[in-house]
Amino acid sequence: MNVADSERVSSALEHLGYEYSPQIEKADVIVLNTCVVRQSAEEKAYGRLTTLLPVKRAHPEVVINLMGCLVGIKENNPLHKRFPYVDVFSPPSDPTPLIEFLISRGDHEQEQIETTRRYAVMDGDLILPNFSQGKQVIGWIPIVYGCSHACTYCIIPYRRGIERSRPPQEILKEAEALTAQGVKEITLLGQIVDRYGKDQPEYPTLAKLMAQMSEIDGLERIRFLTSHPNWMNDELLEAVAELPKVMPHIEIPNQAGDDEVLANMKRGYTADQYRRLVEKIRSRIPGVSIATDIIVGFPGETDAQFQHTYDLLAELKLDMVHLARYSPRKGTVSQRLLEDDVTADEKWRRFRAVEKLQEEVQREIYAGYQDLTVPILFEEKAKKRWKGRTPTNKLVFVETEQDLLGQVLPVKITWTGPWSMRGQLVETQT
Ligand code: SAM
Repeated sequence: MNVADSERVSSALEHLGYEYSPQIEKADVIVLNTCVVRQSAEEKAYGRLTTLLPVKRAHPEVVINLMGCLVGIKENNPLHKRFPYVDVFSPPSDPTPLIEFLISRGDHEQEQIETTRRYAVMDGDLILPNFSQGKQVIGWIPIVYGCSHACTYCIIPYRRGIERSRPPQEILKEAEALTAQGVKEITLLGQIVDRYGKDQPEYPTLAKLMAQMSEIDGLERIRFLTSHPNWMNDELLEAVAELPKVMPHIEIPNQAGDDEVLANMKRGYTADQYRRLVEKIRSRIPGVSIATDIIVGFPGETDAQFQHTYDLLAELKLDMVHLARYSPRKGTVSQRLLEDDVTADEKWRRFRAVEKLQEEVQREIYAGYQDLTVPILFEEKAKKRWKGRTPTNKLVFVETEQDLLGQVLPVKITWTGPWSMRGQLVETQT
């Protein structure tokens, strides 16, 4: 989500005549886009902010913009007092405070201002920044802003506001604009992306939206994240199974495998319901990959309860686990009402246990690709190797001098590990 937000800021700034600077000391405008989902992310944001003070002292004319979840959606933010050297504060996904600040300073020619406005109307603010034009194969489009689910541990609803689905015309226009600029794969984003349109009954469902997106010539792949188990319905599974451009990969956070912990998290399902959903997804979409999110060390989580999570993961053998240690976020229900009573050491122990289990699970899943030929979309060249992904979102590296950027090509898998694979291009006869 933040990558998508940052791209929009970059492109808006370019329309005002700015260009990307690889060196912070040479920049006229510095945008710090922040995440606070865990304490460690928030500390990183404060750390980076502090390093900007000497830059501002040395160059008082530089404009510093703090953006994202650290700022949140509330007016009269206490950050204004704490960081007086920040010129502009922007809520998540909103470049306008910065653009209006720069325009109001009058640094810009009228013509540039008008161009910015025209582009904003024409393209829904979605021209890729110059530095990624023609190079960026993967694009992101937020389709649902905010979240109204209120899991007890989660700060997102407080910082990104209530759930708001974006109009389908805007999304389709952005998808067309991205494709016209060379993007081949688009990921539709939302905190609970499978709730797309639920707040706006006249909007299409996510399944129908992806069917419409599939009509875009030149767009090769469509993905969506993150789904909530309670909204993963048959229509959506049908769309993933039947629409060739929608990739067979589902990100569906489980968070815990114990019913009491799930209830304390207010997730709205039991471990067995999650298990049955995974079975259903697998039977409806053969070869599908499923990724999940897990939090270990939630308040009150006993050894036995953690073991339920471990056992569920060992049983389901999911393709990927995004793993986090519980981090109390100020103002959330769990932080206010539940004691953070699992020690840091114990959280680490549980984290490492799942990590180790998952490494073995993935080693086995990836080994199943050995000698198969798989269509890979190539994203970038890192050192001498081209990096691409399978439809199931697994990383594949291919060593070649050829330019593979943005192409979907058959690759024979020659080596597999727990996190990535290597392969060779299969010569196709034309
Ligand atoms: N909205 C999605 C969902 O259904 O949970 C996922 C998006 S959330 C921004 C990304 C992940 O961060 C969550 O799935 C959760 O595992 C993790 N997370 C959120 N709050 C957390 C907290 N207080 N401590 C640790 N991890 C947390």
